[in-house]
Amino acid sequence: MTQKQCLPILLLAVLFPLAPYPGGGAGRAAEEYSPSRSGAGDEATTLRLTLQGAPGGAATVPKRLSELQSLTGPDFLCTRRGPFLVAGNLQLPDYEYLVDGVLDYCAKALVATFFDRGPVAEKTVSIFVFRDYDTYETGLRRFFGVDPISPYGHYGHSQKYIVVNYETGPGTMVHELTHALMAEDFPDAPIWLAEGMASLYEHCRAEGSALRGDDNWRLPELRRALDEGTLESLAGLLAMTPEEFRARNESLNYARARYFCKYLEELGVLPRVYRRFRDRYSLDPTGEGAVAAELGKPLSAVEAAWRRWITFQYWRE
Ligand SMILES: [Zn+2]
Repeated sequence: MTQKQCLPILLLAVLFPLAPYPGGGAGRAAEEYSPSRSGAGDEATTLRLTLQGAPGGAATVPKRLSELQSLTGPDFLCTRRGPFLVAGNLQLPDYEYLVDGVLDYCAKALVATFFDRGPVAEKTVSIFVFRDYDTYETGLRRFFGVDPISPYGHYGHSQKYIVVNYETGPGTMVHELTHALMAEDFPDAPIWLAEGMASLYEHCRAEGSALRGDDNWRLPELRRALDEGTLESLAGLLAMTPEEFRARNESLNYARARYFCKYLEELGVLPRVYRRFRDRYSLDPTGEGAVAAELGKPLSAVEAAWRRWITFQYWRE
C-alpha cells in the first residue's frame, strides 16, 4: 500500500500511520537523539550530526525562507509556519495537508499539552520532506553532504532540522517533531521519555485539541516478551542511558517506552507526569518519582498494573 492511500481524507481527522520504524542502527542513534542522560550527575551526552560541507551541499542549514528556496530550487514548495520552515517536493495537495493538517495542528496540540516551557517560537526548525526514498537519499547528499542514517527520517539536534522520507508516512514527521519540541522544553529528558513520546505520536489521532496515541506495530514484540517472561523491569527502562537503550533489544526498548507512555496517556496522567518530571528533574532524574506521585503508588505497583493492561491491548496490521 502506498503512503498516499494511507492518508486520511479529512485534514483534522488526523490519523498518522507509520511504516515500521525501527529502533535504528548506530548511525541513527548518533543523529536523532537529543542530548541527555538518565543518570544523575552525569555530564550530558550530546549526540549530534556534524554537517560536513560537500560539493554543492549545505554546511549550514537554512533558517530563512529565501535561503531555503534558493538551496532547494524549483522542485520544492517552501513556506514558513511559525517557527517551522518547510521545504517539500510533494504535490501541492499533499504539501498543504502536511503543513496545515499535520505539522501545524500537531505542533499546536503538543505545545498546548506538554511543551509549555521552551521558547519554541524563537527557534527555527527547518524541515525537509521528500516524496520518496530516491529523492530523500539524493536530497540528503545534495543539501547536507551525508547519506541517510535511517530510511525514515531524523531530527538533527545541533542545527535543528528534520528530514523525512514521506513514503513512510506523515507519522515520521510527527515522531521527529516531538523530538524537536521536547529538545527545547526538556533538554535533559531521558531516552525512555524522548523515544516513548515520539513513538507514541508517530501513530496517533486528533481528539479535540489534543493528540492520542493509537496502537501500532510495536505491540506484538512487547506482548511476546511479556508472554515469554523476558520483559525486564520498568525501573531498569527508566534508568537507561541512551547507550544502554540502543545497545541491546533496541526495538523492544522502543516498544516498552512507547507503551508505558501510552498507558500513562490512557490513565490521563501523561501531561502531568511529563511536567512534574521536567520541573523536578534534578531531584528525580529517571522520572520514577513523578510516575509514583501522579499515580499514587510505587513503581512496582504501577508496573504490575501496566503488565496487566498490556494483555488487553490489541493491534492488527
Ligand atoms: Zn526518535
